[in-house]
Amino acid sequence: MAVKTKDYYEMLGVSRSASADEIKTAYRKLARKFHPDLNPGDKAAEEQFKLLQEAYDVLSDAENRKLYDQYGENWRAVKQGGGPPPPGWQGTRTAGAGAQGGGFDFKDFEFGGFRGGAGGFDIFEEMFGGRAGAGRARRPARGADVEAELEISLEEAHRGGRRTLQMQVAEICPTCNGTGEVKENQTCQTCGGSGQVAKTKTIEVNIPAGVRDGSTVRLAGQGGAGLNGQQPGDLYLHIRLRPHPVFTVRGDDLEVELPVAPWEAALGTKVEAPTIDGKVELTVPAGAQSGQRLRLRGQGLNKRKGGRGDEFVRLKIVVPKKISEEERRLYEELDRVSKFNPRSGR
Ligand SMILES: [Zn+2]
Repeated sequence: MAVKTKDYYEMLGVSRSASADEIKTAYRKLARKFHPDLNPGDKAAEEQFKLLQEAYDVLSDAENRKLYDQYGENWRAVKQGGGPPPPGWQGTRTAGAGAQGGGFDFKDFEFGGFRGGAGGFDIFEEMFGGRAGAGRARRPARGADVEAELEISLEEAHRGGRRTLQMQVAEICPTCNGTGEVKENQTCQTCGGSGQVAKTKTIEVNIPAGVRDGSTVRLAGQGGAGLNGQQPGDLYLHIRLRPHPVFTVRGDDLEVELPVAPWEAALGTKVEAPTIDGKVELTVPAGAQSGQRLRLRGQGLNKRKGGRGDEFVRLKIVVPKKISEEERRLYEELDRVSKFNPRSGR
């Protein structure tokens, strides 16, 4: 696939009278086709890409293009040999490439490193959703996969739910249909030739029951748009669980603290305990201890593949800070009759 000729116009497939816009459009189109990231391991494509860069570097610079038109392949030697360099020469992208005298060495030329220089742009970023903010390329040759975080409540994690999200994604430019140009080699003004525009997209998200903090929900085809008929990317939603005021999450299980009065713990009682689905009656056995955990089997979180975790109710014996006269009398009587010594080393 490598081009034999070194004619820059031929390489870009444009006429010698092509406008700067036409050159740019032609270059972008071909660069997309031969970009190393789209042709992994393809040496011919890599070589072609380097040549395209070289051609574009020269022809996109009005002054260099003029010299090239006049002297052909020897333009650089003419330029360097001919007295003091014109202003701006040292600052252009090709500066230094011919430092050893006319030779062009592109070995040091970094792919995607279109930094600096007039009209420089990063084709990789443009193609793969850099404009979409959260976008990050995973698989080239199709639209960008977009990653985002979604914070949900514990109830949503348990029962599932629906969410409407607004996302910034790369879409195919509606003006040029993703080609980057309107008719007759004119760069599309809407997208600047990239074929993509950033757009706010409304997405309906189904949160499946059983997701957890750190789960990832993949929404196929909801990422960045693919260029030139390529498939769109996917949207990856990383689930964050909002802390719950009552329940602590431990895997599939829930834990909740339940305060009980000293006499409730001593005598045993039935109390209402909160669960993720509402209240249930819980039997506190006589002689219950502070910190003791009572299991409510199957009252934990729904699991992704069916079944449920458990809920653990952790008892906390709470002593009243203020007591009435009568309570005081009863405590004093208890103190008198009880043989219980909590420090007897039991
Ligand atoms: Zn466009």
